Amino acid sequence: MKNELTLSFLAIEENEALARMAMTCFITPLDPTLEEISEFKTIVSEAVTNAIIHGYECDGKSLVTIHATIEDRLIKMTVKDEGMGIFDVEQAMEPMFTTKPQMERSGMGFTIMESFADCIRVDSTLGAGTIVTFEK
Ligand code: ATP
Ligand code: MG
Repeated sequence: MKNELTLSFLAIEENEALARMAMTCFITPLDPTLEEISEFKTIVSEAVTNAIIHGYECDGKSLVTIHATIEDRLIKMTVKDEGMGIFDVEQAMEPMFTTKPQMERSGMGFTIMESFADCIRVDSTLGAGTIVTFEK
């Protein structure tokens, strides 16, 4: 089967749940196991939360965009923001690294995404934004 979706929404925390649900519906035709659904939801949740709270600092006026395709049971997804960008991607992806310890972030988002996705790539430019690409 083949399908494609683009979803853009404002950087408010409420939209994390919207993105998670929309993306779960998108992959449902593949008959995923409960474990696969749960892992995929977590990936969406972590990536979208990062775009909203780090990329845009919840500015409530900028857009996060998810683009996803399904082709022959392979899901490819990008989560994009045009926000502040990441200073050092390698460091950001280390377990327990966070720039927002005061918000009780644990710095485990990228580590969790890496463990659940088959493949993850992070492209980021300071001051221009971040695109995280997944395959599952
Ligand atoms: P947690 O995800 O456990 O709540 P966290 O978000 O700080 O904590 P990660 O998701 O692993 O941890 O991200 C690590 C760091 O990378 C963040 O603290 C932030 O500095 C940076 N980062 C991640 N995504 C973005 C983004 N879209 N834009 C700017 N910076 C980001
Ligand atoms: Mg995070």
